[in-house]
Amino acid sequence: MLRKEDKENDNKLQKEMQDLGTYLSSTFDKMPNQIDLVLFTSPVKNDIFSQAARKVIRSFRNATPKITLREYDIGHREAIMLQADLVHPPALLINPGQYRIRWYGAPIGEETRTLLEAFIMLGYGETHISLNSKKILERIISPRNIKVFVSPTCPYCPQQAVNALKAAIEKPDLISLEIIDIQTNPDLAEKYSAQSVPQVYADDRLIAMGAQPEELFMLSLEKMEQQTIFIPESDAKEVDTDLVVIGGGPAGLTAGIYGARSGLHTVIIEKNILGGQIANTPVVENYPGINQIGGKALVDLLVSHALEYVKIFPGEEALEIEREGTIRIVSSRRTFNTRALLFATGAEYRRLDVPGETRLSGHGVSYCSTCDGPLFKGKKVFMVGGGDSAVTEALHLHNLGVEVTVIHRRLQLRAQELLVKSLQQTGAPVIYNTEISEIRGKDRVEEIELRNTITGEISVMNADGVFISIGYSPVVALAKKTGVEVTADGYIKHDERHRTNIPGIYSAGDVEGGYKQIVTAAGHGSEAALTVFEDLINPYWKKEGN
Ligand code: NAP
Repeated sequence: MLRKEDKENDNKLQKEMQDLGTYLSSTFDKMPNQIDLVLFTSPVKNDIFSQAARKVIRSFRNATPKITLREYDIGHREAIMLQADLVHPPALLINPGQYRIRWYGAPIGEETRTLLEAFIMLGYGETHISLNSKKILERIISPRNIKVFVSPTCPYCPQQAVNALKAAIEKPDLISLEIIDIQTNPDLAEKYSAQSVPQVYADDRLIAMGAQPEELFMLSLEKMEQQTIFIPESDAKEVDTDLVVIGGGPAGLTAGIYGARSGLHTVIIEKNILGGQIANTPVVENYPGINQIGGKALVDLLVSHALEYVKIFPGEEALEIEREGTIRIVSSRRTFNTRALLFATGAEYRRLDVPGETRLSGHGVSYCSTCDGPLFKGKKVFMVGGGDSAVTEALHLHNLGVEVTVIHRRLQLRAQELLVKSLQQTGAPVIYNTEISEIRGKDRVEEIELRNTITGEISVMNADGVFISIGYSPVVALAKKTGVEVTADGYIKHDERHRTNIPGIYSAGDVEGGYKQIVTAAGHGSEAALTVFEDLINPYWKKEGN
């Protein structure tokens, strides 16, 4: 016998279900498009999940004639015709004539939300994708097969699965989608090491862990690796501003923050990757207030902070600078009119300039252990250089399981003592007083020729890779073309307030030489921006004596 209270609750629940059914029916009935579902199940494998899938999907079908459902045993020839995965029932194909969207598992729990969203998007023919996401998808020109691993108990999964659905619906010619429930398919979860959900693979490459905002998902799909920051694109052909910063490393980003906070309208242009050298630095351990942080993670913090204040134009190169009254910068995408310009262009990898280096670059010769290190696990590589970068990167390679030997042209490493001690502790060999004179190999690095810098003796060693970390050369070509003076070492000549020889043009960071630390670059970026602010109020070049 039900108690009075229980009976009331039961009635209430039934009424709610009826209301929900009525609401769903009215929503579905208004859909202009028909939805065609094909469900494959099996009585011998995952039957309990098949039963659950059948129940949920039939209840949607029963709510509206707009949804049609065909059900087959996984062994039916229709499964072969539609190329359904015969070993992973239950498998639901959604509008198979139009899209390649498959669901492996029962859409129960949180996953029912995803299925409902899919029906509404397809039924109404509208994904409500943002303009920015649309632009990113337009840039994808090669096929992508997405796998989204989800589970019924994961409240974040629908967000990521819906992102993937939007991509597959918007670009059915190139993008296919499999939503995989890890409870129904533990073998697939194991195969892809999907121990946490949501997890997304594109063409079997992990591109995202956790739920992402829509634009970041699309960007990760475009770049085929997890993206952490989305910067909206600008279509403006002409930008009027107070300060243009060229370079989005720590100096440029800090200058952006300080410039904008001083009240200057400030923009940053970066032709390569934001963050400059730190983006490729494995670990940073000397940025005050943060004991240890991955280089890319620190870049994300700096960029996110800067974006609070400034507009960033990534992937855009400043090509020409004209000075007539205001400063006019012609970039690869538009023109900037500005009252002041700051060069924070940093420095680029120095090259060894030995035979074989250019030809085998990307085929065993690398300048970035963070990027390429994992490819050399268990292999024998040489790290050239004796400074902080070479030792930090050698430690990173060692930690990745790479057999690394450091080659340094002097008798002593010049890196900080703490780093040198850490290297000694790993037992990684260091070859002193030695230079690489040639890198050899047919299609990839096979051996290196070494020259002893004291005796001149030549020797040859087998190698799978050569990592080069011998410092940086300042990026000053555009500054020089504009008439900015440089020092004998090639750095931008500047006064203690970061003013160059040209009024209204400033410099900060590694392009000025000096200590080349993240914290000094950031410090000089802030100083330079404050000088710009003061000069624009009270131009020093108009003062007596200038
Ligand atoms: P670096 O300090 O200038 O050291 C470059 C190293 O490469 C030197 O050992 C140099 O040898 C060697 N070298 C230069 N040209 C060479 C050539 N043609 N053939 C063979 N070896 C050559 O450069 P870095 O290590 O890239 O560091 C740049 C700046 O960033 C430094 O100020 C550094 O302190 C900073 N940084 C700091 C950290 C940190 O604090 N954790 C990490 C990375 C970088 P010689 O010794 O003979 O000159």
